[in-house]
Amino acid sequence: MIPIFAGPDVRSYLAAEKSGRLRLPRLCPACGGRLWGHGCYERGADETGPGGYQRIPVRRRRCSRCGRTVSFLPSFLRPYQSLVSAVRQRLYEGRRRGCRGGRWPSQ
Ligand SMILES: [Zn+2]
Repeated sequence: MIPIFAGPDVRSYLAAEKSGRLRLPRLCPACGGRLWGHGCYERGADETGPGGYQRIPVRRRRCSRCGRTVSFLPSFLRPYQSLVSAVRQRLYEGRRRGCRGGRWPSQ
């Protein structure tokens, strides 16, 4: 898994993905071989609020030399977690200020 920056949120990532503006590395991080398109898989991204949870495509490439598959996760997501980083940061800051649930902390 390699994080890529493709905008700060789901909407800008989807716009870049749909228009083909994602800049994905072409060299394998393990062996330096050439990476080729290998489809994508879907995963959840939760920005909370109405319509905040979406399934988004995550691009993959496969190395022609070593055969490894590399996934390119948007930088606002973490592996195995659907909450986007901005929401996680707001929760952390709210907890530091003493919020213990019931309401979302203000920004
Ligand atoms: Zn490789």
